[in-house]
Amino acid sequence: RTWYDPRITPEVFEGMKETWMDDAKIQKVMQLFQDNIERGLKKATHKEAIVKCFPTYVQDLPNGTEVGKFLALDLGGTNFRVLLVELDAGKCDMKSKIYAVPQNIMVGPGAVLFDHIAECLADFVHEHKIQHEVLPLGFTFSFPLEQRGLCVGILERWTKGFNCPDVIGKDVVELLNQAIDRRDDVKIDVCAVLNDTTGTLMSCAWKNPNCRIGLIVGTGNNGCYVEKQKNAELFDEADMGSGNVIINLEMGAFGDDGCLDFVRTEVDRTIDDLSINRGRQQHEKMISGMYMGEMVRRYIVQFTEKGLMFGGKASDALKEQDRFSCAFVSDIESDQPRQYTRLRDILRELDLSHGSEQDCINVRYICECLSRRSAHLISAAMVVLLHRMGESNVTIGVDGSVYKHHPHFRRLMIQKMSELVRPGISFDIMLSEDGSGRGAALVAAVAARKKAETGK
Ligand code: BGC
Ligand code: MG
Repeated sequence: RTWYDPRITPEVFEGMKETWMDDAKIQKVMQLFQDNIERGLKKATHKEAIVKCFPTYVQDLPNGTEVGKFLALDLGGTNFRVLLVELDAGKCDMKSKIYAVPQNIMVGPGAVLFDHIAECLADFVHEHKIQHEVLPLGFTFSFPLEQRGLCVGILERWTKGFNCPDVIGKDVVELLNQAIDRRDDVKIDVCAVLNDTTGTLMSCAWKNPNCRIGLIVGTGNNGCYVEKQKNAELFDEADMGSGNVIINLEMGAFGDDGCLDFVRTEVDRTIDDLSINRGRQQHEKMISGMYMGEMVRRYIVQFTEKGLMFGGKASDALKEQDRFSCAFVSDIESDQPRQYTRLRDILRELDLSHGSEQDCINVRYICECLSRRSAHLISAAMVVLLHRMGESNVTIGVDGSVYKHHPHFRRLMIQKMSELVRPGISFDIMLSEDGSGRGAALVAAVAARKKAETGK
């Protein structure tokens, strides 16, 4: 039995084949990814490297004994959140509040963004009556940072929907501290800045000592993993510490030199052309939730204009950019096979109620092709990491809206990875429970513990 419905319109079936990741393509992508990681890690090639492999300065994983009360900020996904996290020997209590980041602030001057963050933080600490305590704060900042220490992070580029150009090249912790100083009504002690992948890895490692990889498949896409310190040439701490360091791959940038053009399609090129970061984050654009729905929409429009779907009549709603959200893809694929309940609701929302059963079959197939391609690309990257690490049993901690809400993503990953992984290496995939919040507290806690132990 095949994974697709044999009733798909033949031209639609053929037209989507460009999104299939056959073995030859996957093997080539894996080889390229492996080379890219090498280049990112090595001092001699890091500067030109596309996949940056930034050392995070996080060397130790939690062991479940961490205690304390922490603040955390989580910026970089769909929502901005402030959290109060209390860790107590294997227990974790969290209070959090979501704040909107208005569109104009996402693409304006940096000072306005950081003033907004500081204002939300002030609101939160007043609400919880902790404005007089100086709690250690972990800042989950989910964009590419070149770290110069656990609490120094220079922004390399913006991704996803953000673009505040004057922040590039600056230390985001310093910008946060300056914004807090401008207000003068709260005190904070930022003791760590981290990527959401690092937070995800930490929050899973807290429960499962085999966890060595953190992965996000959400608005954006990225991964991190535990590397031997001697291989992380850019990590020049004299102190060997644990001998390991977490590497933030920034693998969303993979392909920005054109090396993935052999798998990219016309639709991928259009998505890129219309994005606010053209030419950048090519791997991310093929995988993450910010683009998946729009890709589906473009294929539907294409086939409709050719007269192959919806009687050749696309509604105005269907023609609207970004009108087809990634959540639609998850919903549509959640319908039982050959039942189109949610799909029909979505068609109604898009003024496409005139769709026939044949249209439903085709729409579902288009969704399946793109979520599958995403899962297969992620699987290829994960297997490269597993092979690199060479450990027999590694758990991958995962978070992000696509992974969490898509009904088959995990299964697709497990199937493809099992096919690709070499004998003797086994893996497990575990869902992270709020990595960005709890993970930030854990990074702060582990740093505090180390400081107490070593006096540094
Ligand atoms: C960012 C990464 C982040 C990922 C997931 C990407 O766009 O560059 O730093 O980890 O999104 O949020
Ligand atoms: Mg997030």
